[in-house]
Amino acid sequence: MTPAGALSDPIVGIDLGTTNSLVAYCDERGPRVLPLRAGGRLLPSAVRYAGAVAVSVGAEARARAIEFPHETVVSAKRLMGRSFAESADAVEGLQYRVVEGVRGLAAIDTGSQRVLPQEVAASILRELKESAEAALGVEVRRAVITVPAYFDDGQRQATRDAARLAGLEPTRIINEPTAAALAYGVTTRRHGQVIAVFDFGGGTFDITILRVSADEAIGSVFEVLATAGDTRLGGDDIDHSLAQALLREAAQSCGVSVDSFATPSARQAVRDFAEAAKIALSESTRVPLAIDFGSVTLRREVTREELERLAAPFVERTIRACDRALRDAHGVAVDRVVLVGGSTRMPIVRAAVRERFGIEPYTALDPDLVVALGAAVQGSILAGHRSDLLLLDVIPLSLGLETIGGGVAKLIHRNASIPTRATEMFSTSVDGQTGVDMHVLQGEREMVSDCRSLARFTLRGLPPMPAGIPQIEVEFLVDANGVLQVEAIERRSGCRAGVQVVPTYGLTESEVEAMERDSVTHARADMARHRAADLAVHSRLDLKWITDALARTRGQLDADYLGEVERAMAEVESFIGLATRSDPTLDADAFQNAKERLDRVSMRVHEHAISESLKGMVTPSKESTT
Ligand code: AMP
Repeated sequence: MTPAGALSDPIVGIDLGTTNSLVAYCDERGPRVLPLRAGGRLLPSAVRYAGAVAVSVGAEARARAIEFPHETVVSAKRLMGRSFAESADAVEGLQYRVVEGVRGLAAIDTGSQRVLPQEVAASILRELKESAEAALGVEVRRAVITVPAYFDDGQRQATRDAARLAGLEPTRIINEPTAAALAYGVTTRRHGQVIAVFDFGGGTFDITILRVSADEAIGSVFEVLATAGDTRLGGDDIDHSLAQALLREAAQSCGVSVDSFATPSARQAVRDFAEAAKIALSESTRVPLAIDFGSVTLRREVTREELERLAAPFVERTIRACDRALRDAHGVAVDRVVLVGGSTRMPIVRAAVRERFGIEPYTALDPDLVVALGAAVQGSILAGHRSDLLLLDVIPLSLGLETIGGGVAKLIHRNASIPTRATEMFSTSVDGQTGVDMHVLQGEREMVSDCRSLARFTLRGLPPMPAGIPQIEVEFLVDANGVLQVEAIERRSGCRAGVQVVPTYGLTESEVEAMERDSVTHARADMARHRAADLAVHSRLDLKWITDALARTRGQLDADYLGEVERAMAEVESFIGLATRSDPTLDADAFQNAKERLDRVSMRVHEHAISESLKGMVTPSKESTT
């Protein structure tokens, strides 16, 4: 273990990925990925639920997703900070049910409960926190967490909420490609370069262009010039596309429609086959495939050519985003393209990058680890262990306010360096107006209907004045996390309204606290329900056994004893009834006691039944001794 002095209150780096997540730490020896408690370094971003309780996180949850298609949440990052209405295209191919949660947020229905993507992410973060604590030997309370550069404010807020739910202070939220550039810069110590980080993962795509320069006073300065991307574009889309093609083929051979053909489990299985085939095709040019659907077995080869045909439209979208970023960076010449994310292992992706940038992509860093390593480097900067690096990041999407007529007045433009602030003056449109509604929006389009609503608030308590006289100054402040705060003040009266911005797709402080409380309460209730359901299953078997045995031995048992057995059986039966109806009054401890009582009381019935069935039989041991 590293000396405790260097490690008091460490700041770890966490890559909270769509497919896999990992935690890293950086000390004077440099950044390294920490091992998980369960072994390995990549934690599959999968959580299985029983009610609202996360019963399994990581590899086991992922491996048994076919068995529990509705209870296993994968790719929750796609839903982070999204409304139910917006989630339609994000849920394609997911086997669990996405429903409308509090304030229209996308939530996941796990059968008997609803969980928010933030809670799913919190379970993953908690597992990483505990793994880091085991590896470092100290409590871990602070983390730098990465998000796709193109995450908007709602998605960043949701990530912060998840961290707080996991008992972690999100010391800084940084962009994944920027983290990758930090890791690259720290590892290669190259200055005076323009780097493009091409980050194509399971669920998101980002392209970021940075300049790494040497500064006499500081050391290395990482300045983001432009960023672009798509938070709903990833390797998952390619898996889905191939899986659909395979399902269509299998359904066709049975003469039925795809919808009526495959169960959720079968769909999940085909997705797994499709992903495995895709990964294998990064090395080979063809792979054999055999999928057993019960009614039919699909046996055939998948070729790289076929996969590339399906993947081409998605790869094309990544290149279009690169064009946008290069335009925003005023066509700067790129010296290096660093590849990040598992999907950059596909030959078609590498070829497209090579062609667009005219240079061979840099692949020496492991694309699975580089983001977490960079986050750990940023953690060590924030912990004060390194002062030779400076990170100047940008805001990915413009921020503005709704104006009369449904237009958007932009206060901060995309690719502005953060932290940043901007102010704008507004006034009233009606005489004597004492309150003004404000609507905060994010996006590049001109009209409210084409931008994303971040928050609404009302500036109250203005002294009545004629229309146009109040001078309302609205200030937007984007902190180093890329998270927005809004303040409003009426200049003439000095009236500063206490504005609490409730993010449209985030959670309020009190909601986070309530969720923490609820998760504990729910956990107890769900555990009790789980236990009662288990007891009911075992008790039903006991009752069946005792009823069968009684049918054979009733004549040899005295009436008092029979009465005692029947009372114990009736008691257990009534508990089974309560468990079957999920009755909230059921006391699992009392059920357990009743079951144990029945086990004890029915002992004599079992003994009689056994001797009855042995009667007239010559047992092997008797035979051998005579
Ligand atoms: P990430 O979000 O960076 O963990 O990337 C996960 C995505 O990368 C998933 O869609 C994986 O299927 C994909 N992936 C991982 N390894 C490979 C590979 N060798 N070839 C193609 N895709 C891969």
